[in-house]
Amino acid sequence: MRLVRFHRDGSAGYGILNDGKITVVGGLTDHAPTGESFPAESARLLAPSVPTKIVCGGLNYRDHAAEMKLPIPEEPVIFIKPSTAVLDPGGDIICPPSSKQVEYEGELAAVIGCETKSVTPAEARKCIVGYTCLNDVTARDLQRKDGQWTRAKSFDTFCPFGPWIETEFDPGNAVIETVLNGKVVQSSNTSNLIWAVDVLVSFISQVMTLHPGDVVTTGTPPGIGPMKPGDEVEVRIAGIGSLVNKVK
Ligand code: MG
Repeated sequence: MRLVRFHRDGSAGYGILNDGKITVVGGLTDHAPTGESFPAESARLLAPSVPTKIVCGGLNYRDHAAEMKLPIPEEPVIFIKPSTAVLDPGGDIICPPSSKQVEYEGELAAVIGCETKSVTPAEARKCIVGYTCLNDVTARDLQRKDGQWTRAKSFDTFCPFGPWIETEFDPGNAVIETVLNGKVVQSSNTSNLIWAVDVLVSFISQVMTLHPGDVVTTGTPPGIGPMKPGDEVEVRIAGIGSLVNKVK
Protein backbone atom coordinates (compact mmCIF):
# COMPACT_ATOMS: atom_id res chain seq x y z
CA MET A 1 0.00 0.00 0.00
CA ARG A 2 1.31 3.43 -0.96
CA LEU A 3 0.66 5.89 1.86
CA VAL A 4 1.01 9.50 0.69
CA ARG A 5 0.90 12.90 2.32
CA PHE A 6 -0.65 15.45 0.01
CA HIS A 7 -1.46 19.13 -0.31
CA ARG A 8 -4.76 20.05 -1.92
CA ASP A 9 -7.13 23.02 -1.67
CA GLY A 10 -4.95 24.73 0.91
CA SER A 11 -4.62 21.87 3.36
CA ALA A 12 -2.55 18.73 3.89
CA GLY A 13 -3.64 15.18 4.62
CA TYR A 14 -2.78 11.51 4.32
CA GLY A 15 -4.14 9.13 1.72
CA ILE A 16 -3.70 5.82 -0.03
CA LEU A 17 -2.54 6.13 -3.64
CA ASN A 18 -3.94 3.48 -5.95
CA ASP A 19 -4.65 3.50 -9.69
CA GLY A 20 -4.19 7.27 -10.04
CA LYS A 21 -6.60 7.99 -7.19
CA ILE A 22 -5.97 9.18 -3.64
CA THR A 23 -8.32 7.84 -0.98
CA VAL A 24 -8.08 10.08 2.08
CA VAL A 25 -7.36 8.34 5.40
CA GLY A 26 -7.19 9.47 9.02
CA GLY A 27 -3.42 9.83 9.29
CA LEU A 28 0.04 8.29 9.30
CA THR A 29 -1.12 5.27 11.31
CA ASP A 30 -4.90 5.55 10.91
CA HIS A 31 -5.52 4.04 7.49
CA ALA A 32 -9.32 3.98 7.71
CA PRO A 33 -10.86 5.89 4.74
CA THR A 34 -12.64 9.13 5.60
CA GLY A 35 -14.93 8.73 2.58
CA GLU A 36 -13.20 11.39 0.47
CA SER A 37 -11.19 10.60 -2.67
CA PHE A 38 -9.92 12.48 -5.73
CA PRO A 39 -7.64 12.08 -8.77
CA ALA A 40 -3.96 12.06 -7.73
CA GLU A 41 -3.07 14.75 -10.30
CA SER A 42 -5.29 17.26 -8.47
CA ALA A 43 -2.95 17.12 -5.44
CA ARG A 44 0.74 17.75 -4.80
CA LEU A 45 2.68 15.05 -2.96
CA LEU A 46 4.50 16.14 0.20
CA ALA A 47 7.29 14.38 2.07
CA PRO A 48 5.26 11.45 3.42
CA SER A 49 5.68 12.19 7.14
CA VAL A 50 6.40 15.13 9.43
CA PRO A 51 9.46 14.03 11.44
CA THR A 52 10.75 15.64 14.62
CA LYS A 53 14.18 14.36 13.50
CA ILE A 54 15.82 12.20 10.88
CA VAL A 55 18.26 9.71 12.38
CA CYS A 56 20.84 8.44 9.93
CA GLY A 57 23.10 5.44 9.89
CA GLY A 58 26.58 5.97 8.47
CA LEU A 59 28.78 3.41 6.71
CA ASN A 60 26.16 0.65 6.71
CA TYR A 61 26.81 -1.10 3.37
CA ARG A 62 29.54 -3.74 3.21
CA ASP A 63 30.30 -2.76 -0.40
CA HIS A 64 30.52 0.97 0.53
CA ALA A 65 32.90 0.20 3.45
CA ALA A 66 35.08 -1.79 1.01
CA GLU A 67 34.98 1.11 -1.50
CA MET A 68 36.08 3.58 1.20
CA LYS A 69 38.74 1.09 2.46
CA LEU A 70 37.27 1.49 5.95
CA PRO A 71 36.86 -1.29 8.50
CA ILE A 72 33.34 -2.37 9.35
CA PRO A 73 32.46 -0.49 12.57
CA GLU A 74 31.77 -2.52 15.72
CA GLU A 75 28.55 -0.60 16.39
CA PRO A 76 26.30 1.49 14.14
CA VAL A 77 27.49 5.07 13.60
CA ILE A 78 24.53 7.44 13.81
CA PHE A 79 23.93 11.14 13.27
CA ILE A 80 20.94 13.47 12.89
CA LYS A 81 19.57 15.67 10.16
CA PRO A 82 17.15 18.35 11.40
CA SER A 83 13.47 18.37 10.44
CA THR A 84 14.10 21.72 8.69
CA ALA A 85 16.16 19.87 6.03
CA VAL A 86 13.08 17.98 4.78
CA LEU A 87 12.22 18.48 1.11
CA ASP A 88 9.14 17.23 -0.75
CA PRO A 89 9.41 14.84 -3.69
CA GLY A 90 9.87 16.95 -6.81
CA GLY A 91 11.28 19.86 -4.77
CA ASP A 92 14.55 21.65 -5.52
CA ILE A 93 17.78 20.83 -3.65
CA ILE A 94 19.46 24.20 -3.09
CA CYS A 95 23.28 24.23 -3.19
CA PRO A 96 24.49 26.62 -0.46
CA PRO A 97 27.15 29.19 -1.41
CA SER A 98 29.45 27.90 1.36
CA SER A 99 29.95 24.51 -0.34
CA LYS A 100 31.63 23.63 -3.62
CA GLN A 101 30.88 19.90 -3.36
CA VAL A 102 27.26 18.89 -2.75
CA GLU A 103 26.80 15.11 -3.11
CA TYR A 104 23.92 12.62 -3.34
CA GLU A 105 23.54 9.60 -1.05
CA GLY A 106 20.64 7.37 -2.07
CA GLU A 107 19.22 5.52 0.94
CA LEU A 108 16.42 3.27 2.15
CA ALA A 109 14.51 4.92 5.02
CA ALA A 110 11.98 3.62 7.54
CA VAL A 111 9.15 5.79 8.87
CA ILE A 112 8.30 5.30 12.55
CA GLY A 113 4.64 5.00 13.58
CA CYS A 114 4.69 4.95 17.37
CA GLU A 115 6.64 6.23 20.34
CA THR A 116 9.73 4.02 20.25
CA LYS A 117 12.08 3.74 23.22
CA SER A 118 14.44 0.91 24.23
CA VAL A 119 12.87 -1.67 21.91
CA THR A 120 14.26 -4.97 20.67
CA PRO A 121 14.67 -5.50 16.91
CA ALA A 122 11.46 -7.59 16.90
CA GLU A 123 9.57 -4.79 18.67
CA ALA A 124 11.16 -2.23 16.34
CA ARG A 125 9.62 -3.96 13.31
CA LYS A 126 6.15 -3.32 14.77
CA CYS A 127 6.98 0.41 15.17
CA ILE A 128 7.73 0.89 11.45
CA VAL A 129 4.82 2.14 9.31
CA GLY A 130 6.70 1.42 6.10
CA TYR A 131 9.62 2.35 3.88
CA THR A 132 10.55 5.14 1.53
CA CYS A 133 13.42 6.54 -0.59
CA LEU A 134 15.66 9.23 0.90
CA ASN A 135 18.55 11.32 -0.42
CA ASP A 136 21.02 12.12 2.39
CA VAL A 137 22.37 15.19 0.59
CA THR A 138 25.81 16.10 1.95
CA ALA A 139 28.20 19.03 1.52
CA ARG A 140 31.26 16.74 1.32
CA ASP A 141 33.85 19.53 1.50
CA LEU A 142 32.29 20.89 4.71
CA GLN A 143 32.04 17.38 6.17
CA ARG A 144 35.81 17.01 5.72
CA LYS A 145 36.58 20.57 6.86
CA ASP A 146 34.47 20.51 10.04
CA GLY A 147 35.56 17.09 11.28
CA GLN A 148 31.95 16.41 12.30
CA TRP A 149 28.87 16.30 10.18
CA THR A 150 26.20 18.67 11.46
CA ARG A 151 26.72 21.54 9.04
CA ALA A 152 27.42 19.30 6.04
CA LYS A 153 24.21 17.28 6.48
CA SER A 154 21.80 19.95 7.71
CA PHE A 155 21.23 22.63 5.09
CA ASP A 156 17.58 23.34 4.23
CA THR A 157 16.47 21.02 1.37
CA PHE A 158 19.21 18.43 2.18
CA CYS A 159 16.69 15.74 3.14
CA PRO A 160 14.30 14.91 0.31
CA PHE A 161 12.26 11.77 0.98
CA GLY A 162 9.27 10.03 -0.54
CA PRO A 163 7.38 9.95 -2.82
CA TRP A 164 5.28 7.74 -0.48
CA ILE A 165 5.57 5.16 2.28
CA GLU A 166 5.30 1.58 1.03
CA THR A 167 3.72 -0.37 3.86
CA GLU A 168 4.31 -3.84 2.38
CA PHE A 169 8.01 -4.08 1.65
CA ASP A 170 10.83 -6.49 2.49
CA PRO A 171 13.75 -4.26 3.56
CA GLY A 172 16.16 -7.22 3.50
CA ASN A 173 16.40 -7.75 -0.25
CA ALA A 174 15.73 -4.84 -2.62
CA VAL A 175 17.72 -3.25 -5.43
CA ILE A 176 18.61 0.36 -4.58
CA GLU A 177 19.89 2.76 -7.23
CA THR A 178 20.70 6.44 -7.56
CA VAL A 179 20.33 7.90 -11.04
CA LEU A 180 21.96 11.24 -11.96
CA ASN A 181 20.69 12.82 -15.20
CA GLY A 182 19.51 9.41 -16.40
CA LYS A 183 22.76 7.56 -15.59
CA VAL A 184 22.91 4.96 -12.80
CA VAL A 185 25.63 6.12 -10.37
CA GLN A 186 24.85 3.98 -7.31
CA SER A 187 23.61 0.41 -7.45
CA SER A 188 23.43 -2.13 -4.66
CA ASN A 189 21.01 -4.33 -2.75
CA THR A 190 19.74 -3.78 0.77
CA SER A 191 20.97 -7.32 1.53
CA ASN A 192 24.41 -5.65 1.76
CA LEU A 193 23.32 -3.67 4.84
CA ILE A 194 25.62 -4.35 7.80
CA TRP A 195 22.85 -3.53 10.29
CA ALA A 196 19.35 -4.39 9.18
CA VAL A 197 16.69 -1.71 9.64
CA ASP A 198 15.16 -3.34 12.76
CA VAL A 199 18.59 -3.64 14.40
CA LEU A 200 19.35 0.00 13.60
CA VAL A 201 15.99 1.24 14.96
CA SER A 202 16.52 -0.85 18.11
CA PHE A 203 20.04 0.60 18.53
CA ILE A 204 18.81 4.19 18.08
CA SER A 205 15.92 3.61 20.49
CA GLN A 206 18.41 2.78 23.27
CA VAL A 207 19.71 6.36 22.82
CA MET A 208 16.68 8.52 22.06
CA THR A 209 12.91 8.29 21.86
CA LEU A 210 11.61 8.12 18.32
CA HIS A 211 8.24 9.79 17.71
CA PRO A 212 5.58 8.97 15.10
CA GLY A 213 6.73 10.41 11.77
CA ASP A 214 10.42 10.26 12.64
CA VAL A 215 12.60 8.83 9.91
CA VAL A 216 15.47 6.37 10.27
CA THR A 217 17.66 6.19 7.19
CA THR A 218 20.02 3.30 6.69
CA GLY A 219 23.16 4.65 4.99
CA THR A 220 24.29 4.74 1.41
CA PRO A 221 25.78 2.12 -0.96
CA PRO A 222 28.96 2.68 -3.05
CA GLY A 223 29.22 5.31 -5.76
CA ILE A 224 28.61 8.59 -3.92
CA GLY A 225 29.44 11.63 -6.02
CA PRO A 226 28.77 15.31 -6.73
CA MET A 227 25.70 17.08 -8.10
CA LYS A 228 25.57 20.53 -9.67
CA PRO A 229 22.83 23.05 -10.40
CA GLY A 230 20.67 21.86 -13.29
CA ASP A 231 21.11 18.16 -12.42
CA GLU A 232 18.20 15.82 -11.83
CA VAL A 233 18.74 13.17 -9.16
CA GLU A 234 16.59 10.11 -8.59
CA VAL A 235 16.72 7.56 -5.76
CA ARG A 236 14.84 4.41 -6.74
CA ILE A 237 14.20 1.30 -4.74
CA ALA A 238 12.57 -1.74 -6.28
CA GLY A 239 9.27 -2.39 -4.52
CA ILE A 240 8.92 1.22 -3.31
CA GLY A 241 9.29 3.68 -6.18
CA SER A 242 11.32 6.65 -7.26
CA LEU A 243 12.17 9.95 -5.55
CA VAL A 244 13.12 12.67 -8.05
CA ASN A 245 14.55 16.11 -7.25
CA LYS A 246 16.27 18.85 -9.22
CA VAL A 247 19.39 20.69 -8.05
CA LYS A 248 19.49 24.49 -7.99
MG1 MG B 1 24.14 8.85 4.38
